Amino acid sequence: MPSNESMTDVLIIGTGVSGLIAARELQRAGLRVLLLDKGKGLGGRLASRRIGAATFDHGAQFITTRDARFAEILKEAAKAGNMTEWCQGFNAAADGHTRWRGQPAMTAFAKHLAKDLAIQMETQVSAVKQADNSYTIETSTGTIYSASAVLLTPPVPQSLALLEAGGIHLESTMHTRLAAIQYERCIAVMAVLKQPSLIPPPGAVLPTSGPVSWIADNQLKGISADPSVTIHANHEFSLAHWDEDRMLSGQKLIDACQEWIGTEVLSYQVHGWRYSKPMQVDEQPCALLQSNPPLVMAGDAFAGPRVEGAALSGFAAAETILTHLSQS
Ligand SMILES: Cc1cc2nc3c(=O)[nH]c(=O)nc-3n(C[C@H](O)[C@H](O)[C@H](O)COP(=O)(O)OP(=O)(O)OC[C@H]3O[C@@H](n4cnc5c(N)ncnc54)[C@H](O)[C@@H]3O)c2cc1C
Repeated sequence: MPSNESMTDVLIIGTGVSGLIAARELQRAGLRVLLLDKGKGLGGRLASRRIGAATFDHGAQFITTRDARFAEILKEAAKAGNMTEWCQGFNAAADGHTRWRGQPAMTAFAKHLAKDLAIQMETQVSAVKQADNSYTIETSTGTIYSASAVLLTPPVPQSLALLEAGGIHLESTMHTRLAAIQYERCIAVMAVLKQPSLIPPPGAVLPTSGPVSWIADNQLKGISADPSVTIHANHEFSLAHWDEDRMLSGQKLIDACQEWIGTEVLSYQVHGWRYSKPMQVDEQPCALLQSNPPLVMAGDAFAGPRVEGAALSGFAAAETILTHLSQS
């Protein structure tokens, strides 16, 4: 039987950067906020994994910033020991923009943002429903949460499915706009090496041909005790091999990277990102789906296909919710 949890001010689905930034802002404004995430670990596409003494970032590889507000948060995370500068660019030329990495790995940034927030992990939301002057959220285990406002931050197709499951129908222009947002896929390989790779400092190559878009040496990057590489396949390869056995696709990508690996691969794991990066970015930094009570969608599809875009969308979503909650 579904159980009834107490009412809160704002429920946020997703503990990626957009959800965490919005939660910080809303909590700072005095609201009660609860984040729900289906994953085991915080951070969404900021993801790190260990295989023995090897550490991998297998989602976002680095963070860049041009926005002053987000730069302040990165500086604050660096001061707390959770972020550090990696380098100023890859391949031949450095472009002068700092690439930040997590310390000890990328999920440290999510953990930094999550401090003092109320979060429930391993909680898969299955539907968002409208009640009288509030929303209810149902989870896959039948738990029900209620709130005066809801922020959805999963990739847009997943967020739309949650609204549909709860019988919330968007106005047709908004639905068409959001339904048009598609994402690249990415098959990511995490390989433990016998010896250091042949990748030159500062530790990453962006191949311009072939199936691989990125290969990084995690030891040179400064996050791994043992030699290891993270390989990202490009969208074309990932789409074409999506239904293939993952270890087979992983081996193909390792074979394609021999000139940079140059040593024996001791073991490897493979992860598939169905929603890696949005191919289109919406015209608004977040989407106000209903104003009274506020129902908002945010994420990197709204302010740019990278961590900073997700953060800016989180700021915008918090402002939108604060404005409309004060009016309702
Ligand atoms: C392979 C790869 C490489 C990348 N490289 C870079 C890079 O180098 N630099 C950069 O800036 N950006 C990079 N990005 C993009 C960056 O990771 C994203 O833009 C950003 O992390 C997105 O944050 P978000 O909050 O919008 O979404 P997400 O991080 O995807 O967060 C959404 C959250 O919602 C949760 N969720 C989904 N459905 C449900 C549900 N039903 N119930 C409960 N929870 C749910 C998910 O578990 C997830 O935690 C990369 C992404 C990938 C995949």
